[in-house]
Amino acid sequence: MNKKAIYAIIILMSAALLGIGIIQWFWIKWAVDLGKKNFDDRVITALVNVKDKLREDALTYEGLEKFRLGKDNPFGEKAQSLYDDIIRSNNSSWLTKKTGEEIRLNTLLLSGQSFFDASQKEKLDKYINAELNDQGVDLKFDYGVYSKESQSFIILNGNFAVNISDIEASNLETETERSLYDSDYEMQLIKPDESLKLYFPNQTSWLWSSVLPQMISSLIFTSLVLFCFIYTIYVIFKQKKISEITNDFINNMTHEFKTPIATISLAADSINSPIILSDENKIKRFIGIIKQENKRMLNQVEKVLQMALLEKEDFKLKHTAVPVNEVVRQAVQNAELTVQKRDGIIEVDTQAEPDIIEADLTHISNIIHNLLDNANKYSPEKPEIQVTTHNKTNGVEISIKDNGLGMSKEAIKHIFDKFYRVPTGNRHDVKGFGLGLSYVKAMVNAHKGTIQVLSELGKGSNFILFFPYRQ
Ligand code: ADP
Repeated sequence: MNKKAIYAIIILMSAALLGIGIIQWFWIKWAVDLGKKNFDDRVITALVNVKDKLREDALTYEGLEKFRLGKDNPFGEKAQSLYDDIIRSNNSSWLTKKTGEEIRLNTLLLSGQSFFDASQKEKLDKYINAELNDQGVDLKFDYGVYSKESQSFIILNGNFAVNISDIEASNLETETERSLYDSDYEMQLIKPDESLKLYFPNQTSWLWSSVLPQMISSLIFTSLVLFCFIYTIYVIFKQKKISEITNDFINNMTHEFKTPIATISLAADSINSPIILSDENKIKRFIGIIKQENKRMLNQVEKVLQMALLEKEDFKLKHTAVPVNEVVRQAVQNAELTVQKRDGIIEVDTQAEPDIIEADLTHISNIIHNLLDNANKYSPEKPEIQVTTHNKTNGVEISIKDNGLGMSKEAIKHIFDKFYRVPTGNRHDVKGFGLGLSYVKAMVNAHKGTIQVLSELGKGSNFILFFPYRQ
């Protein structure tokens, strides 16, 4: 899959996820709005019913009696006479109601007196609770009767509005009053300037909580899809990287083998030539070259085989008593020639005493060889390599320090990965498969040891190995 296709998929998938997210949000919002509309309808029905009930009550004789005004009221006489008319009108219910309503409304309108006395207030409270209950509205609510004429609440939550002497109470009420005043749930009652207002403090949270299960499940599923998507992209990139690395490896390996094969072929051809055949010294030289190149190839094969062995993960370590100092000195001796050829120096200081560890000799030796090889390879100028051994609690520490290229923090994170090579642009001057350190790491782990890297770009690196005395 090429990069363009991957990016196209990322963009399409992101757009699809975004689209699904937006649509879901609209669905949820729609459900909330619908819930609110339904809620509004029920509250309005309850309010209408409350109004009707209050009105019905007020139209009884008893109701009328209550609203008859006192004698000293300038409108009292009129009310009294209308009332008397009703009594006289022989209980015709229609007429009674009609006239009764008129009397009351007129009387109230003219007098400026509130419709609500103590008993009406009780009824109001009872009716509101009952009606809301009937409509299935079981949310906490505040209610109040607002008088436009006096521009204040006459009744608040079942009580006549308290006078403002109590500061704390008045503050509290102001808040309820304000919410009630702003509320859209309003119903004009008997007197046109008196209206009942309702307010539900927890309405918004209640509405949202009603769609909470849908919201949570859609969030979970969207997150799942998102997670799978991100993971898939991650895997695609990883696979792509692996395939690039494997390609590199194959190119590298082919190149590494091509040179010795070509050299061997050339040497063999030369031996075959009559001029050389007669000269024993020259034959020996060419045979030497063939052997050397052969050894080089063997080394390469060995590295690949080491890796193949690790891949199987069922390698068996042959533990023996390994004298670390001796192994280190031997390895340094082998590397010395190559280093000296490049005008470099290699110093060894074996201080560990005792230096015997329980380990597999071949692998310990390979580890040290690999690290020395790298110290030399990655020192572009004259290599200066220091190898030391020390005792630590329960084991021996081996340090291999160079003054070479060094590595960035980012590179250090990856050097133990299989096939990883620090990118060097197009310079292919240093050969390798990127397998050495992954082998080192795996073997150190198999010996229950540790490996630590201290390195600074441009200054050099220090690889510190630790192996326990006993396994
Ligand atoms: P190879 O040497 O075959 O590339 P390794 O696994 O031995 O593979 O090393 C991985 C990478 O770590 C190397 O490509 C190199 O960039 C970096 N590296 C290893 N040792 C050193 C060192 N002593 N100094 C600087 N870089 C190093």
